[in-house]
Formats: sequence, structure tokens, C-alpha cells
Amino acid sequence: MRRQGGKYIYVPILATFGILLVAFAITLATITNKPVNSYAVEDETAYEGGSGNGYEFVETEGKNGVKYYVITKNTADSTSSATAAESKTSQAVTGTTANSTKGDSTTASTSTTESKTTSTTKTIRSSDEKIAYLTFDDGPSINTEKLLDILDQYDVKATFFVIYHKNMESKYKAIVDRGNTIALHSYSHSYSKIYRTEKGYYNDLNKIHDYVEEVTGVDSKIIRFPGGSSNTVSRKYNKSIMKTLKKSVTENGYVFHDWNVDSTDASGINRDPDLLVEKVKAGLQKKKPVVDILMHDTGKSKTTTVEALPRIIEAVQAEGYKIEPLTIESEAIQHNW
Ligand code: ZN
Repeated sequence: MRRQGGKYIYVPILATFGILLVAFAITLATITNKPVNSYAVEDETAYEGGSGNGYEFVETEGKNGVKYYVITKNTADSTSSATAAESKTSQAVTGTTANSTKGDSTTASTSTTESKTTSTTKTIRSSDEKIAYLTFDDGPSINTEKLLDILDQYDVKATFFVIYHKNMESKYKAIVDRGNTIALHSYSHSYSKIYRTEKGYYNDLNKIHDYVEEVTGVDSKIIRFPGGSSNTVSRKYNKSIMKTLKKSVTENGYVFHDWNVDSTDASGINRDPDLLVEKVKAGLQKKKPVVDILMHDTGKSKTTTVEALPRIIEAVQAEGYKIEPLTIESEAIQHNW
């Protein structure tokens, strides 16, 4: 009798365990079709890595006007068919954000980086020379000095595509004083402000241009569009804005730069530094003569970029690349779609 009673005690325990197991399995099965994460963005931090890395980034305004990005993984770093990517994206955004990516076949077809990157013809290197540009977006931040220290240790220079941050004048200056290139990204980094109209874009660009010139004395004509020239987020505000801007900035004497190697540090908060190093190494395996390596200088959420940087520099040099800062004459990596 006692033995029999003991058995019954296990029934509810086993049942509970079973239910939990099923719930876990369901969660696991559905998780790939949901936004992988959403981040509250206090300082309008960017997620440039998005579209080129199989992610879709949708700027959204939450309660109290707080902006955040809903980040949806289209495909798991894969090159699966456009149809598959499209349907997955559509599912993922349902009920979470505006339908900016629904039914958008162009978004789906751009889930591979290989097909959309190309370099322009401005060539100042000899034919067998390999050049790498280390580029940091969205700074300056509390990490800027740490990044500069590492760059100094390796005696290499990088490029910082800056945005406006208050009370950081000394950091903008440090970028320049220590021999790195300061370049323009955006004043506000607010997609809704810059990608609605051409005028809105230039209001913002002129503000960051003038601010950088006032603080550092540098009249920069080197720019990177928030989200890159191939971003799909802008279509939510103006379908043809990127086409307009790409032509227009060039006519106005600017050179815009995208990237062809993505550290993927923008695809999450403090991603594993080992992963960032691996992503860069994988990008280098494509054997392009000129690589522009995308990283971010955005403070607390990107401390692992600082951790990974020494190994990234070593990996780049081990592949025979010479690391240089961008200049107005540099060969620009521009997304071709
Ligand atoms: Zn950015």
C-alpha cells in the first residue's frame, strides 16, 4: 500500500514536468518567427548591421515618445530563397510594428550581403595591395578613448562616423588629435527625421557637419547614411529617398561609404566578442581587395566591440590587409541596390 501511494505522488510531478516540456518545445519552435529582440534606444543608437545581416530594423515610437527598434531576423544568416525570407519577415512583424516590410520583395531579396556590395572605381592602391578600413558608427561614447588606445597600441588609424552627443567635445577632438578620421553620420540619427524628405536629410547633415567643424576644425565630406545606403527602414517614410539622396550627396561633394564586412555588433547588446571576431574573419574570407569593417562606438551596449578589437585588428593584418583611415580619395564601398 505504502509503495502504491508513493507512486501516485509522482503523477502530478510528472504531469507538471511534461507540460513544461511541451511549453518549452512550443516556445523553441516559434521563437525563430518572432522579433529576436527589441531595444529601448535612449540616444537613438543605430543598428547599421541590420539589413546586410539578415535583420530588419524598424524604428518604432513607444509610450511617452520613447524610440526603439524592433529587430527581426529575416533568415538565420542564410541565403535562403526570397520567398522564404519574405514570408518569415511578414510573420515576424505581424502584431509588433507597422507593416513596413510586409510583402516587400526587395527586402527579402537582399538578405544576402554578397549580392549587394560592390566597390566604386576610385582607385589609389596598387593592384596587389589590400586595404582595410575600420569604421565605427554612432560615437563618440564612453568607449571612444578605449578604442583609440587600442588603435594606438597597434599603430593603426580608424574612421569614426559620428553623431551628435552633448558634452563630448573632448572625444570628438581626441578622434582627430590622435590621427583618426572623423566622418559624418547624422546629427539626430532619427530615421523619421532624416528619411522623410531631402530637405530633412540635409538639415540634419548640415547640423552634424557644422558641429564637427566647430568642435574639431575638420570640414568633413565623408559620410555614412544611418542604416547604410541600402537601408529599407527609410522606405517607411519615403520610398525613393535613398535613390534621391545617393545621387544628391554625391553632387554636393560628399562621398558616402557603406561596408562589406559586418562585425554584427549592432545585432544585439554586447554580443559575444568571440562571435564578433569570427564574423569579421568570415567576412575577410571573401578575399575582397578593399574591406570596410562595420563596428559601433556606442557605450555600454558595445563594450564587447572594445574587447574584440585587438583580435579583429590581428585577424585583418594576418590576412595581409593594410589598415588605413578613410580619406576623401579612398575607395568607397557602396551597397549596390
Ligand atoms: Zn548609426
